[in-house]
Amino acid sequence: MENNNNVSRNEEWRVELRSSISPKERAAIERVEMPQLDPAYRITCNEEVNQGITEEQAVREATRCLDCNNPQCVTGCPVGIDIPKFIKNIERRHFADAAATLKETSSLPAVCGRVCPQEKQCESKCIRLKMKQPAVAIGYLERFAADWQRNSGEEETVKMEPKNGIKVAVVGSGPSGLSFAGDMAKKGFDVTVFEALHEIGGV
Ligand code: SF4
Repeated sequence: MENNNNVSRNEEWRVELRSSISPKERAAIERVEMPQLDPAYRITCNEEVNQGITEEQAVREATRCLDCNNPQCVTGCPVGIDIPKFIKNIERRHFADAAATLKETSSLPAVCGRVCPQEKQCESKCIRLKMKQPAVAIGYLERFAADWQRNSGEEETVKMEPKNGIKVAVVGSGPSGLSFAGDMAKKGFDVTVFEALHEIGGV
């Protein structure tokens, strides 16, 4: 039986996109660098140091991905994101579809795109390392797609199962607590999150 990665890889748009640029041309593209705040300015403010990448940078970086037949990057992702599918959606500028792919298995992609150690997880398995080249910047692309979704004003469609009447308490509102709460709510549970501090989010 075909797995989901193979099913999405064989979709017509993916096949066309893959053949639109040769692997050699893809391999010749250099990894994007994420812009950072200037240190002189950084010491005067509390703004985020890493600025994120632009649409053009994201599309170019997505083009570096070879859309592998057996994508080892996915095996390095603790939540099994269909990495080539979300990246190829960025390459064809379907940013909402890229964000939706992330949300299939990850509740907080904007957080994970910033704090996950991708160099030890998904990116450490990227085929481009075997080609003696930098890995595809999967983390930067994850952050890009999640931020794009958040800033777009577009409503997300979340699949909710019917309410089952069972109450669930979640103690602590850090990333894992919120992810769990979100997943349980989607499954129809009546969820309450308890937090000792004045703000949620694991501050
Ligand atoms: S291993 Fe690298 S090149 Fe292959 S699908 Fe994953 S991100 Fe793309």
